[in-house]
Amino acid sequence: MIIDGKKFAQKLRNKIKKEIQSIKKKTKLIPGLTVVLVGNHAPSEIYVRNKEISAKEVGINSKVLRFKSSISEIKLISVIHKLNKDKKIHGILVQLPLPNKINGHKIIQEINPKKDVDGFHPINVGNLSSGKDALVPCTPLGCYLMIKSVRKNLAGLNVLIIGRSNLNGKPMAQLLLKEDCTVTIGHSKTKNLKELCKKADIVVAAVGRANLVKGDWVKKGAIVIDVGINRVEKKKGYKIVGDVEFETVVKKARAITPVPGGVGPVTIACLLNNTLKAFKNIN
Ligand code: NAP
Repeated sequence: MIIDGKKFAQKLRNKIKKEIQSIKKKTKLIPGLTVVLVGNHAPSEIYVRNKEISAKEVGINSKVLRFKSSISEIKLISVIHKLNKDKKIHGILVQLPLPNKINGHKIIQEINPKKDVDGFHPINVGNLSSGKDALVPCTPLGCYLMIKSVRKNLAGLNVLIIGRSNLNGKPMAQLLLKEDCTVTIGHSKTKNLKELCKKADIVVAAVGRANLVKGDWVKKGAIVIDVGINRVEKKKGYKIVGDVEFETVVKKARAITPVPGGVGPVTIACLLNNTLKAFKNIN
């Protein structure tokens, strides 16, 4: 089974759109999302545009605030404080990376945790780690929903997450621990990654190394989620591949996400999901 991320995301967006329509009808209120974009980072421009299009599609009031990379940390913090107070805004997302002179952690900490739709604020990180309700980072949330769509009961399954970033690996581990999985996190210093992988019922690869996970690493019938986005040069131009060698792993896996068209589209749909969740929590 190849998990079609575009279809999965469309289904999720349809569900969100329906709920927003019904909320609007009953309360006349609309969830609002503001994305703060600093500087001219080309990939960020693309991500932000896609987020804006998707938000509009489901009926979220979405706005992008653009600032020059010369903006000071103090000014950026005052922007965040203003958004925190704005009753029409339920989700605030500061697009990363920020210019080097700005301390990203400091900025994220200034966001009202209830509006932190990226799930990066220490309060949300702490709540997730202690098994409480939290706004969860969008990519691992998307991976989790896709895994659950394949198999509802995950209790007792062996999971290998490759990658220990705050953005992907760590929140992914928390989500699957809460499902009673036995979770192993691999990273660049892990020994015998292949052997660990062979024992896993679920593999989540969030590494950034093209085709790291091969067919002979994967147990037959495993669920394989590929978060990686890697640019591989070709004779003419380049292509995007994941951390999983799709052609060999697809023969072993019970379910697998392709790259592109797997985790990526679902990540954006989860941002909309988090904005709706933030709206409901606030109201
Ligand atoms: P990151 O912060 O660079 O973390 C990468 C992790 O992989 C680190 O924990 C690193 O170990 C580990 N690692 C590196 N080389 C390894 C190796 N050879 N064997 C085992 N582990 C290794 O990356 P990230 O932000 O989590 O992103 C990971 C990938 O996901 C990237 O390709 C990124 O573009 C992609 N991504 C996709 C989406 C999406 O929506 N699809 C969203 C975000 C990110 P150490 O900790 O020891 O350094």
